[in-house]
Amino acid sequence: MDLASKVRLIKDFPKPGINFRDITTLLQDAGAFRQAVDELVELCKGLAVDVIACPEARGFVLGAPLAYAMGKGVVLLRKPGKLPGKTVCHSYELEYGSDALEVHEGAIQPGQKVLLVDDVLATGGTVAAAVELVKKSGGEVAGVAFLIELLGLDGREKLSGYPVVTLLQLE
Ligand code: 5GP
Repeated sequence: MDLASKVRLIKDFPKPGINFRDITTLLQDAGAFRQAVDELVELCKGLAVDVIACPEARGFVLGAPLAYAMGKGVVLLRKPGKLPGKTVCHSYELEYGSDALEVHEGAIQPGQKVLLVDDVLATGGTVAAAVELVKKSGGEVAGVAFLIELLGLDGREKLSGYPVVTLLQLE
């Protein structure tokens, strides 16, 4: 199945001028969802991974089934104030303003090899923050996997030195 055809383009979301790739149309199609997870698992096979970590919210939808299929645990990276225990935090700059991601202290053990998973690589700001959280926790980034890489935003440049797996490359 052509997975790219299952991704819907929504113009001017969340603001004018942005072309948003809506993956809900892929996720709600049983065959497409299974194929996407299976292909990501296959692409990640060569990576030595101890645990999978994924940022909310769409990262959860792919990170959890990937972890299940690979026989790994899943660590949730969340927006501030959502995790109940003590957290490690990393703030990052957005085009307008800033944002942050948190992970529970001890969720990633020192020396653990972490595979980061998210739905879309755009500017790379989110995944760069996720990389910093892994490092602050003492873990090592084993690789980074995305369903979609948006070409032309140079997100990959923020990930030099790490294996990057992307299923669909879209303009
Ligand atoms: P970045 O931080 O790389 O600029 O943006 C990636 C993050 O924003 C990901 O967590 C992703 O969920 C979200 N994102 C940015 N652009 C899109 C898009 O076009 N479609 C979807 N589904 N998510 C996006």
